[in-house]
Amino acid sequence: MTAILPQAVESLLRVFGKLPGVGRRTAMRYVLHLIREGDACVAELARCLDDVARQVTLCPSCQGLSTDGRECHICLDPQRGPESVCIVAGIADLLAIEATGLYQGRYFVLHRLLSPLKGVGPASLGLGRLFERAQQGSVEELVLATPLTAEGETTATYVSRTVAHLPVRVTRLAAGVPVGGSIEYLDRLTLSRAFEDRKEL
Ligand SMILES: [Zn+2]
Repeated sequence: MTAILPQAVESLLRVFGKLPGVGRRTAMRYVLHLIREGDACVAELARCLDDVARQVTLCPSCQGLSTDGRECHICLDPQRGPESVCIVAGIADLLAIEATGLYQGRYFVLHRLLSPLKGVGPASLGLGRLFERAQQGSVEELVLATPLTAEGETTATYVSRTVAHLPVRVTRLAAGVPVGGSIEYLDRLTLSRAFEDRKEL
């Protein structure tokens, strides 16, 4: 079967197959669908991918997704003050919390969690600028929404210890978050409760 497909199709199958949850069969469905839809559909996909590659950058303030190196919509939103910053492991967690509509502060996206075993140290989290803002007094609360895993806990402990000498309230989402579980997969109600019942560290 492999040999009868054009090289370009094989290459696309390989790329789709790298996406989470997409095996070769699903990748094949996607590729055949695109081919069936025709040039316009393929061109649109190519254009979108090109736009993402060229325009999407990390927000210099929160490391969330932004465009062309500018600050993201959340950081620029005048309704959201800099006093409360919710620290999340990834963009998906940020989106899950946003979907609750409960939180009106800003975020800081780590993209990775502290892990001595994987060689991820504090420097690679990019937290320096957030700690600077806390030092300058513009942050009143840090909400730690890292997952209840060993790495999530290590990261939370590191953050709370680093700001321990500052007048910053540090809270942690706990209630309803399963041990070992990720924030991203919590249903809206559970996440809302975890947020409202956040515990002071
Ligand atoms: Zn931002």
